[in-house]
Amino acid sequence: MAYSRSSLFLACVGSLAAGRIALAAAVGVFLASLLLGHRSYTTGHMEPSLPLFVASVVLGFIWFSAIGFYLLSALLLPCDSCRRRYVWCGLVPPRQYSSSTPRNQLARFFRPDELVDRRYKCPHCHGEFTLG
Ligand SMILES: [Zn+2]
Repeated sequence: MAYSRSSLFLACVGSLAAGRIALAAAVGVFLASLLLGHRSYTTGHMEPSLPLFVASVVLGFIWFSAIGFYLLSALLLPCDSCRRRYVWCGLVPPRQYSSSTPRNQLARFFRPDELVDRRYKCPHCHGEFTLG
C-alpha cells in the first residue's frame, strides 16, 4: 500500500540523514581547526584555525536546521492505518523497519533503511507502506 504523504516522509528521513552527516562533518572540521590552529602572539595559547572554525559553526547550523525540520515534519506524518504520528516512533531506536539488504550499522545510521528501500513500517499497527 502506498503511503499518502510519501514525499514528506522521504524529506523527513532525508533531513535526518543530512543532519547526521552534518553533525559528523562539524565535529571533524572542528577537531581539524584545533589541530591546525596556531599559537597566539599575545596570550601564547593555541587558537583554532578561523576558516575551519567558521566552517564547523556553519555545519553545526545545518545540523540544527536539519534535525529541526526532521522533528517538525515528523509531527505531520500520521500513519494511514492507525493515525498515530511518526515522530513518536522515529525518535526511539531501534526502528521497526529494517532492510532485507545487508548493510552495516554505520551505513544505516547515515542512510536509513526507509530512504534506501523506499518502504515504511508503522511500529504501532505494523502496517507496511511503499514510499513514492
Ligand atoms: Zn500505524
